[in-house]
Amino acid sequence: MKVTRDLFNEVMVPNYNPAAMIPVKGQGSRVWDQTGTEYIDFAGGIAVNVLGHCHPELVAALKEQGEKLWHLSNVLTNEPALRLAKKLTDATFAQRVYFANSGAEANEAALKLARRYALDVYGESKNQIIAFNQGFHGRTFFTVTVGGQAAYSDGFGPKPGGVDHVDYNDLAALEALMSDNTCAVMMEPLQGEGGIIRPTDEFAKGVRALCDKYNALLIFDEVQSGVGRTGELYAYMGLGIEPDILTTAKALGGGFPIGAMLTTTKIAEHLKVGTHGSTYGGNPLACAVAERVLDIVNTPTVLDGVKHKEQLFRQGLEAINQKYQCFSEVRGQGLLLGCALTEKFAGRSREFLVAAADEHLMCLIAGANVVRFAPSLIIPDEDIKAGLSRFERAVAKVVNG
Ligand SMILES: *Cc1c(COP(=O)(O)O)cnc(C)c1O
Repeated sequence: MKVTRDLFNEVMVPNYNPAAMIPVKGQGSRVWDQTGTEYIDFAGGIAVNVLGHCHPELVAALKEQGEKLWHLSNVLTNEPALRLAKKLTDATFAQRVYFANSGAEANEAALKLARRYALDVYGESKNQIIAFNQGFHGRTFFTVTVGGQAAYSDGFGPKPGGVDHVDYNDLAALEALMSDNTCAVMMEPLQGEGGIIRPTDEFAKGVRALCDKYNALLIFDEVQSGVGRTGELYAYMGLGIEPDILTTAKALGGGFPIGAMLTTTKIAEHLKVGTHGSTYGGNPLACAVAERVLDIVNTPTVLDGVKHKEQLFRQGLEAINQKYQCFSEVRGQGLLLGCALTEKFAGRSREFLVAAADEHLMCLIAGANVVRFAPSLIIPDEDIKAGLSRFERAVAKVVNG
């Protein structure tokens, strides 16, 4: 069978519009398409391929588990899941783990747990969930409703209720909405899809204090910011506060689908037997790979490397901006970086992405005004330099028309 991009239009639901080329092979931070053209990968599968493509240790973990045991369901537990849960709890504030298959599912579990906890402990009226404009929490109906982008949640009929939104980094607005009826506040400790926006220290600490004041749970969605992305294992570790519930996915599997919700024993108790579940959650293949990802990422070598590579990116991007004056700011943290476009280029992030692809560089956008990079955490310095010179050629093309 001849597989072409045209086949996509014939057989796939049209909810995506992928690039013209079809990748067939990846190694480290390089990808090759059907014609053998090589690309440098600054996109990392949207902050997923945290150790690049086909990392030998992840391939080994997958093969090893693949010859032992693939699936059991949650009628039985398994060794990789228990080992991974132990390592996640040892490495974080959490004492309990629930496994899912994606970020949205981990968030769905977090939201349902928060609602159940509030119902059990405080009663029915404590059900308000507050989240932030431009936030992103996934595409299930509950999570997309909690996400702060109406464009994603509108058009599917009546939404789950009890959900309110305020602006990110606006503590006064949050305070004005909160009361004893607030069940949970859900936030990304570094907004990803919404434009790569960091919380101020004051805001992060203020949110924690308000949650304490009103007995509301603080849910950190670390689906994009977690697993080393910011140079900390989880972004909360750099903010000097702890959430009550944390969700993690994307990079956790390094390219194999897995998600997890982490919380404390006291809160976890409220998801009693039968209250929630997932057929594939805690799948041995996924957990075996994720265990290896965590072993490798949660080391000073990789985490300090992220901070070093962030500097390389920033220096390179600032140098490009000196010449072309198209970014108002290079923002973000670690290897989740965004180039915010100036007024002159407002709304044109996709043009930069397309021009980059023409120069054989894969990057991302975060809305219409931000070009986003989320490469492998171990991308070689030479690939950063080579990729940035491709990016410079792309920027030149857009700027010079
Ligand atoms: C990607 C993302 C999700 C959704 O994850 P899926 O695996 O696509 O369901 C949720 N929250 C954040 C912050 C994300 O970046």
